[in-house]
Amino acid sequence: MHGSYINGQWLTEGNSFEVTSPVTGDTHAQIHACSRSDVALAIESAQAAFPAWAALAQEERAAYMLKVAEQIELLGAEIAENLMYEVGSWIGKAKGEAGSAGGMFRAAAEIAQQVTGYDLVSPTGRKSFVVREPLGVVSVITPWNVPFGLSSRTTSGILAVGNTVVLKPSELSPISGGILLAKAVDQAGVPPGVFNVVCSSRAGVMEVGDEMVSHKGVKALSFTGSTQVGKALAGKASQHLKKVSMELGGKDAMIVMSDADIDGAVNAAVFSSFNHSGQICMGTKRIFVDDKIADEFVNKFVTQTQGLGVGDVTDMAKPIAPLINDTQVQKLQEQVEDAKAKGATVLTGGGYQGLFFEPTVLTDVNESMKTWSEESFGPLVSVYRFKDVNSAISMLNDCEYGLSASVITQDTEKGVEVAKQIESGMCHINDGTVYAEPLAPFGGAKNSGVGRYGGLASVESFTTTRWVTVSDKTPDYPPVFMGK
Ligand code: NAP
Repeated sequence: MHGSYINGQWLTEGNSFEVTSPVTGDTHAQIHACSRSDVALAIESAQAAFPAWAALAQEERAAYMLKVAEQIELLGAEIAENLMYEVGSWIGKAKGEAGSAGGMFRAAAEIAQQVTGYDLVSPTGRKSFVVREPLGVVSVITPWNVPFGLSSRTTSGILAVGNTVVLKPSELSPISGGILLAKAVDQAGVPPGVFNVVCSSRAGVMEVGDEMVSHKGVKALSFTGSTQVGKALAGKASQHLKKVSMELGGKDAMIVMSDADIDGAVNAAVFSSFNHSGQICMGTKRIFVDDKIADEFVNKFVTQTQGLGVGDVTDMAKPIAPLINDTQVQKLQEQVEDAKAKGATVLTGGGYQGLFFEPTVLTDVNESMKTWSEESFGPLVSVYRFKDVNSAISMLNDCEYGLSASVITQDTEKGVEVAKQIESGMCHINDGTVYAEPLAPFGGAKNSGVGRYGGLASVESFTTTRWVTVSDKTPDYPPVFMGK
């Protein structure tokens, strides 16, 4: 059995749950399930470890981050293997995710050294300065889709600036979303209690989640997952006045302008729509293409989509892997059936076999259809034609989500003008919507979230500002308060 990791110890006693592989359909692993009191113990361990961790010199915390990066790199093959069989990642995505996580901890070593302050000129002549200090224990909850990458992205910046962490991975990805990261942290010699992993079954998630938010030792919540669960947890956190950082759902869009390099646009659209079988928060779900080039774009996009290999996560030539579970397949199928019934045209795909959902392209989609507004967490994308880019921008913005966006054009100045009018946390000109860098601010607008990760954004999100003044002697107060 794989244990939870609390105060530098592997905890295996107590209840457990099974993880089923979406690839083989067999049991992938047996996992320890934390009780509420196990979670409290993890939080209290993180509380106890906080003062010494926060007091380390920046270079010392940076050195730990580099050691974790080295350990992650040594565990690369095991991480990739679990990404394939625990959550059904195609080998290209699995290797890419495992290979980039070390870089996140290397970037965190830089973040550790970006916690700065500044001096103020006090009108009363006293010394006056502002410092940024870590928050304390941060509860971190992550999803299953990019489990190692998202747990690494989130916790690396949080730890680097001096906080301690209690991480809960999804019950669908406890090994690749938490246990293997704990192994790297443990092997890197990070002091006990600084980083804890609490595994939980779906049956226990309400209790575990409640403890992670309401325990008075927790100072902030970092949540990555669906908008629905994120809103519920943010509501709970607000009752305790705790800081939240929310990375939520998306319905990301690409605008293809009439002067676009069409082949490049098609490549960007296929990659961003269908990498990890569309199960990426920043995945492209809506493509707005100028009518003048729409026929050529759509023909090439559909042909290239039809060429995507399906069915074997270990084959570099077959990027379409099984979806995580039947629930996700059914949600997508409902969206496709609803769209068809209301007049949408299926340009390709639309069906499924077991957990394999065909890469699907729809057109003639309108606001009466579920897929117009609901997140489609799988390989389902809609193409819209436009005559005037302003109408495309307003359709794009007519959406509760705003995570990432992209504009394809050879006129990059025009691209930036369009980007400025798009309501999203991130926008890329001449790339797809799926793009991130460890030191760049990652996050969404509207119902896609609040808060940012990466570089200075992690410092902003996971430290607090304190103002300190120093006088040589106490000042003169009004005489009535000075016994005169
Ligand atoms: P989810 O159902 O919201 O779950 C996310 C995490 O929350 C999981 O660890 C889940 O645990 C946990 N959880 C669920 N209910 C909880 C509760 N009451 N208390 C505490 N924790 C609770 O999302 P998902 O289906 O795993 O992930 C897909 C969603 O995440 C999509 O909407 C996607 O867009 C979004 N996402 C966003 C980003 C981003 O950076 N913006 C990145 C990736 C994914 P269990 O799984 O064990 O229930």
